[in-house]
Amino acid sequence: MKPANLLLEQTGTTIFTLMSALAVQHGALNLGQGFPDTEGPADIVEQAALALGDHRNQYPPLTGTPELKSAVAAANKRFYGLDIDPVSGVCVTSGATEALTACLIALLNPGDEAILIEPLYDTYLPVVKLLGAIPKLVRLEPPSWELPRAELAAAFSPRTKLLLLNSPMNPTGKVFTPDELSFIAGLLETHDSYAICDEVYEHLVFAGARHIPLMALPGMFDRCLRIGSAGKTFSLTGWKVGYVSGPARLIGLVAKAHQNLTFTTAPNLQRAVAYGLGKEDAYFSTLAAELQARRDLLRQGLEAIGFKTLATDGSYFITADFSGLGFDGDDVAFCRVITEQAGVTAIPVSAFYAGPAPRQFVRFAFCKQPALLEQAIARLKGWIASPPLTRGA
Ligand code: PMP
Ligand code: GLN
Repeated sequence: MKPANLLLEQTGTTIFTLMSALAVQHGALNLGQGFPDTEGPADIVEQAALALGDHRNQYPPLTGTPELKSAVAAANKRFYGLDIDPVSGVCVTSGATEALTACLIALLNPGDEAILIEPLYDTYLPVVKLLGAIPKLVRLEPPSWELPRAELAAAFSPRTKLLLLNSPMNPTGKVFTPDELSFIAGLLETHDSYAICDEVYEHLVFAGARHIPLMALPGMFDRCLRIGSAGKTFSLTGWKVGYVSGPARLIGLVAKAHQNLTFTTAPNLQRAVAYGLGKEDAYFSTLAAELQARRDLLRQGLEAIGFKTLATDGSYFITADFSGLGFDGDDVAFCRVITEQAGVTAIPVSAFYAGPAPRQFVRFAFCKQPALLEQAIARLKGWIASPPLTRGA
């Protein structure tokens, strides 16, 4: 038979699904795929349940319910001082995943160059390639993950259409600094390029760091599409409600992509998320503070049993170097073995690279209850203490 889509035939199943399946198979504590192990706020869930009963269950408008679009515009103003038009400046999507694809479709023609920053979230590269665009990868190096300015500048060309910026960044936990953002903004202006800003972890930022949307910098508004995710902001990852904010011209294009992807998103969930975005400031600060405490718990636990951890200022994730443990194998083998033998699952960081990758880092998710994090540390500790022969790769 004729081959089907060659790119998809070459694309594997996402590492998050693979590792979650392995975790279930071995009854492991899943610190791999990034999802909280508790429900999101009960009042938001209740709003979704109530909204099912009020006869608005047919197709919502293509770009989102008026309630949610207004709430997204208001949140942009409240948190960042951004002026987003609630009618023409917002497109609601089925998760940030759809938003990313819709934004890439909105901006890229075949042959355009798209700058991506490694390590990178796993949906970026396949979608850029499926659109016939050319990925230009710029790599951040551990442990600081500092922006390599000369390399980034060199990656731009007259064919650069866009840069995809993920801040706070998965898997590194890096929050781009104001200085780095200004440097990026300068390049976008010089090269007349756009930015897709994946800001799903915008509210999961820890003390000492501050999230600033690239869109908020001078001259950037008309060049940026800013993506948020209710899944992350309200600890309801299964809901898959995302939103794109931006200038009307670009949002109109995102809407045209969205109409061919999913067209719309469940109305009751949209309305519950609208309610959630209106929650008091304390909700957002408590979310970040609680997560920070879990980061610290996991970091201290991992350090105490021989991992070296890298700094993380935002997101659900911590990167840990296992090379001091005497394990004979790479990160993929390490994640498999700790799932099978220690009963704890992590994600190999090499999965976030397109080319040759460092092999001694794994990503642990700390968006879990403290008792579960402590249990995971205890299991890893026991495994590390066991004789090497019984814990081989
Ligand atoms: N971008 C990044 C960086 C992510 O980590 C995720 C994972 N959830 C997404 C996008 C997708 O978000 P959603 O679940 O809203 O589709
Ligand atoms: N964003 C999640 C993570 O990085 C995974 C989401 C998914 O499985 N698609 O763990």
